[in-house]
Amino acid sequence: MILIIEDDKSIAKLLELTLKTHDYKVKVASNGLTGLSIFLSDKPELILLDLGLPDVDGLEVIKQIRKIDQTPIIVISARDAEDDKVKALDLDANDYLTKPFMSEELLARIRGCLRRNNIANKEVFESKGLKVNFALHQVFVDDVEIHLTPLEFKMLSLFINNKERVLTHKYIQKEVWGYDSLDEYQSLRVFILNLRRKLCINNHNYIHTEIGIGYRIII
Ligand code: CA
Repeated sequence: MILIIEDDKSIAKLLELTLKTHDYKVKVASNGLTGLSIFLSDKPELILLDLGLPDVDGLEVIKQIRKIDQTPIIVISARDAEDDKVKALDLDANDYLTKPFMSEELLARIRGCLRRNNIANKEVFESKGLKVNFALHQVFVDDVEIHLTPLEFKMLSLFINNKERVLTHKYIQKEVWGYDSLDEYQSLRVFILNLRRKLCINNHNYIHTEIGIGYRIII
């Protein structure tokens, strides 16, 4: 079941119809507290969460859910709310959609979240020409071996383990370097640029920039 937490009735209705047409079971909550109570009682597979709610702030809803488990959360936000988007991702929301969005985009994000599993447990990852052997620290693109530094390998592994998910600058810095600092954003940018160049065999473009937010690997 997918839980929609959205106070705008017309958007909630549209989401509900779209999902039901594609055979998803759906429940709708029109405020944060009802949403949290359905989350606790019904254990949804995924949550679509509007950030601007009349009672509890959407960011607070994410915090409460993450105290309990890792149910995928896709945040729905207004176009002018870039800050909130980043905050939501930093609080461990899985993805976001900006209003207005196409139903194709919504369905793709939902499928992405539901199919994402922990690739880290596998010894070898292979997709779209990219092959990573985690045990041997080897990387190939279209069978050409790519030599990565240990930090670059760590970053690529982080991306692969969060396939198709947007990772914020802050999140990447914390995971790869163990700290985050605003001064380091420029070096992160250069670092990603180098990694992207190394992986660019036959024009493969795996790491995509989400302007003002972070990066996402698409494989
Ligand atoms: Ca709203």
